[in-house]
Amino acid sequence: MMEAKDIVICDLDGNVIDGKLQPSSDLPTHLVLYKAWPQIRAIVHTHSPWATMLAQAGVDLEPLGTTHADTFFGSVPCTRELIQEEIEGAYEEQTGQVIVKTFEERHIAPEQVPAVLVASHGPFAWGHDPKEAVENALILEQCAWMAIIDRLIDPSLSAVQLCLLDRHYQRKHGKNATYGQH
Ligand SMILES: [Zn+2]
Repeated sequence: MMEAKDIVICDLDGNVIDGKLQPSSDLPTHLVLYKAWPQIRAIVHTHSPWATMLAQAGVDLEPLGTTHADTFFGSVPCTRELIQEEIEGAYEEQTGQVIVKTFEERHIAPEQVPAVLVASHGPFAWGHDPKEAVENALILEQCAWMAIIDRLIDPSLSAVQLCLLDRHYQRKHGKNATYGQH
């Protein structure tokens, strides 16, 4: 089991600053995201099964209800698949690059949609601190689970109305957020 003392401290170039162990093999992916998006301060990578099922199918997690809209302001995008050269080369760094490119090409703000599905792989989630990143990873998994079952119930189900998505996201995250009155 991992303990706090096992955490390896690295700088943004991947140099180990403190710690006795090797950093995660996924470190280059995280570094690409931290450099591209300085506003995010923590990243969580899981292979949680429901979100991973969507990633393996190569489909976005569409917003189907307010549970999704409270955290993600629109679809959680699925990246394209990495090509052979990317996989055989600097694979982990390329994974980060494809995530950043997906958000750029689709004009998605990473602070408004704090998660991604990497095709054939699994989810990454992030936040302003580690607690928020873990929460977002858990919410992503719950939303993926509900979306998959919803599509079994009704394969033609369409995304939640934009006005409802907007209302729920803004009341929790907008300038005039009232959710919880904080
Ligand atoms: Zn992984």
